[in-house]
Amino acid sequence: MQRREFLATAQRGIAASVTCGLAVPAGLASVTHPDLLATRFAAPNSQPPTTPPANPAARAVTGQPAAAPDKPAVTENSAAGEKPTAGNDAVAADGYPVKLEIIDCHTHFYDPGRPEGVPWPGKGTSLYRTVLPKDLRALTLFRPLTGTIVVEASPWVEDNAWLLALAARDPFVVGVVGNLQLGDPEFAARLKRFAADRRYRGIRVSSSAVKERVERREWREFQQLADANLALDVNGGPDTPAILARLAPQVPELRIVLNHIGNVRITAAAPPADWRAGIAAAARHPNVFCKISALVEGAARDGQSAPGELDFYRPYLDAVWDPFGDERVIYGSNWPVSERAASYSTLQQLALEYARSRGVPALRNFCAENSQRAYRWRPS
Ligand SMILES: [Zn+2]
Repeated sequence: MQRREFLATAQRGIAASVTCGLAVPAGLASVTHPDLLATRFAAPNSQPPTTPPANPAARAVTGQPAAAPDKPAVTENSAAGEKPTAGNDAVAADGYPVKLEIIDCHTHFYDPGRPEGVPWPGKGTSLYRTVLPKDLRALTLFRPLTGTIVVEASPWVEDNAWLLALAARDPFVVGVVGNLQLGDPEFAARLKRFAADRRYRGIRVSSSAVKERVERREWREFQQLADANLALDVNGGPDTPAILARLAPQVPELRIVLNHIGNVRITAAAPPADWRAGIAAAARHPNVFCKISALVEGAARDGQSAPGELDFYRPYLDAVWDPFGDERVIYGSNWPVSERAASYSTLQQLALEYARSRGVPALRNFCAENSQRAYRWRPS
């Protein structure tokens, strides 16, 4: 059924690099395919994705309070060891809220078994298998996930529709960050088409594509995203935050999400000064958010295994969290790519333990409320 639906709308995108994170260590090298080109052909029966009502008009940017969360009813079934506080504010003996919404804001889903295959991941890699939300839910987790925002790594235009169809079938997928190429002459039309689906919450682009436009002072596509109430995810190397610091004030209504803390290499040494300066510069703009994701990949560069001790990551996390603050840091895993560096449970525990050290309100923000500010994934 889903494959036939896909075929009915098959239309492939323009040539583009296919990456997920900036992973280039030996163990992860096969994850990245910068030279992979997708062929293009016309759609026999191109149709828009099934669409619920369009985005609400709300366009206020960051710093504004998020919509009131859809809090579940007050709990009666207190866990053992829970402090005698009421309802959603109850905190268990381990310091975590009994009710904690956790949206993993950086996952990848794909199905190499569909007739047209996938442009990413490459054949012969451990990632080359069907990966769907149910597979994520089946993992051993440190804390249960309540939803995810999936990020499209494939440059095929119709894969935006494929993810939207997946999200339509599975409400666990609360949002889709799609993949459209800046510079595509059909960018505006494609943006309009996909943004008609409420689940479409933004697109991801490379920092090099952003840098070109910053240097040419070309803001049109960014403004179109902002006008559509969509967010811009940006993936690239440690110079990415500094690039975003130049983009952000030019399009202040655009919500920008730095991916993977800029893919800095995490080591026992102090964080690099230039990366730190870029992070601080980006964080000065209230429309820039930072996704704390791909942490274990950052620590597994050059092929070494990712440490499981939070102290190893702490200087890097401090360098991000201090300037961005409690309201602009977002949880993401980068699963399944992350599995090559550490288990989901390990990476999740590292991120959540750090966030919890900032206090329970900060933890709640990190796990769900900040992504609501950035992506507006919760219909208001
Ligand atoms: Zn990724």
